[in-house]
Amino acid sequence: MLINGEWVGASSKEKFEVINPANGQVVGVVPKCNSTDVDKAVGAAHQAAPAWAAKTMAERSKALLKISQLIMNHQEELAKLETMEQGSPLRKTMNFDVPLCAEQFEYFAGIARGLTGETLPVGPWCMSFTVREPLGVVGLITPWNFPALMVVWKLGAALVTGNTCVVKPPSVAPLTTLKLCELAMEAGVPAGVVNVLTGPGETVGETLVQHPLVAKIGFTGDTATGKRIMNLASATVKQVGLELGGKNAFLVMADADVDAAVEGAIFGGFFNTGQVCAAATRFYIHESLYGEFAEKLVAAAKQLRYGDPMKMETVIGPVAYAAHRDKIESYIEGAKKAGAKLLLGGKRPSTPETQKGFFVAPTVFGDCTNDMNIMQDEIFGPVVGLARFSTPEQAVALANDTRYGLCASVWTKDVRAGLMLANQIKAGTVWINEHLIIFCETPWGGCKQSGWGKDLSTMVLNEYTTTKHIYIDATGASVKPWYAILK
Ligand code: NAD
Repeated sequence: MLINGEWVGASSKEKFEVINPANGQVVGVVPKCNSTDVDKAVGAAHQAAPAWAAKTMAERSKALLKISQLIMNHQEELAKLETMEQGSPLRKTMNFDVPLCAEQFEYFAGIARGLTGETLPVGPWCMSFTVREPLGVVGLITPWNFPALMVVWKLGAALVTGNTCVVKPPSVAPLTTLKLCELAMEAGVPAGVVNVLTGPGETVGETLVQHPLVAKIGFTGDTATGKRIMNLASATVKQVGLELGGKNAFLVMADADVDAAVEGAIFGGFFNTGQVCAAATRFYIHESLYGEFAEKLVAAAKQLRYGDPMKMETVIGPVAYAAHRDKIESYIEGAKKAGAKLLLGGKRPSTPETQKGFFVAPTVFGDCTNDMNIMQDEIFGPVVGLARFSTPEQAVALANDTRYGLCASVWTKDVRAGLMLANQIKAGTVWINEHLIIFCETPWGGCKQSGWGKDLSTMVLNEYTTTKHIYIDATGASVKPWYAILK
């Protein structure tokens, strides 16, 4: 772990193993820290905070650019590490995750230099303005589905705005985060500014959330964990940013280009083996297109090459850990019992190279109804459900019939009609004729039980700064008219 610029073990000397989900082998052993270590890391971050905040935006921005460069210098190493600890195919980690991490550091380095306050026209007798200041020590708690990207979204924004960080990576996949933070040190980020603690969420995460010297928790993870964090953070009135789960609708309208929608559905439903908060998982298809869409989707999903994620031709890897595979399988069994029609998959793959890993074959269910668990719960695997609708009003009602509000997509040739639907869907992002594409420039974050706050875009700068109002009297008078109220 990284505490105050030093690579250290847990004070308890305990450790835990990181398992490669493609073959069940141990790929790393990391310290299992406890509350004493949390206290040390927060203390280091607290001590480092004034000097880091006192640096100019240009200095911090340049440090981020250096990190970005180092990420690309270590592209292959980082990509292989993420593939080995999380199972995401090397084809994706090399060409998508790692370059995007580098790009995001560049983006944060750029936008931070445009951070401004406001002057407020209160009256001619004063000067009133706002300044944006760092929060201090922030705790960043991240999930395993995109181990590198999820920490970069938060770390880049928090660092450049002058905060010091204590990162708690996912226990399933902590290695990429440790490497990224090593690169931050190599880029010249001072000791104590970035600290990383490895260990269980229930102990390390909760101690961090309750720590009085931590000003904010930036959290991405499960909705149930987010609720627990909100609860615990209330004791110290800590700010929390919550990027939580999703159960995202994909609406195929009567005039949609079916082939384009099928391509989008494959990407939206199966990217990262479906382990994406933004994944398309509930497909509502106009009744006139349902048969054609279902047939083409199944045919396309059959072509997805799953297997050893270290092979460049593999597009679908294993899911991240054994218990997660078991959970996905129990949803598949539940859907069969509930009467959904299995159109594809629904069982473990039988190819030799998938036998030692935690694989789930791409699975498509048809004839689903919204009361089924597979249409309401976040499964977080390569499993999608299809249902029919007959009117646009029905499509919107079905899309909104969920406790989540992360994202949705509408597929139509009539962009005006698509816009009207987008306006009625309760979600943080609605794509028209696209699903899953996220840019540095566009805000990311949901509503309802998908959380609050925004990562990415210039909006993220608000998440890691506080606004201070400063008022200067310009009259020089010893008695002001409003003092009369007490005279
Ligand atoms: P998780 O909630 O189990 O774990 C996330 C992190 O929280 C891990 O580091 C974990 O160790 C820690 N944690 C666990 N219990 C904790 C506790 N009681 N207190 C403090 N920290 C605790 O989530 P996961 O299984 O790692 O990730 C999958 C979830 O993340 C899915 O629900 C997915 O939708 C969500 N996610 C959301 C977004 C988004 O932008 N909305 C992005 C990626 C993932």
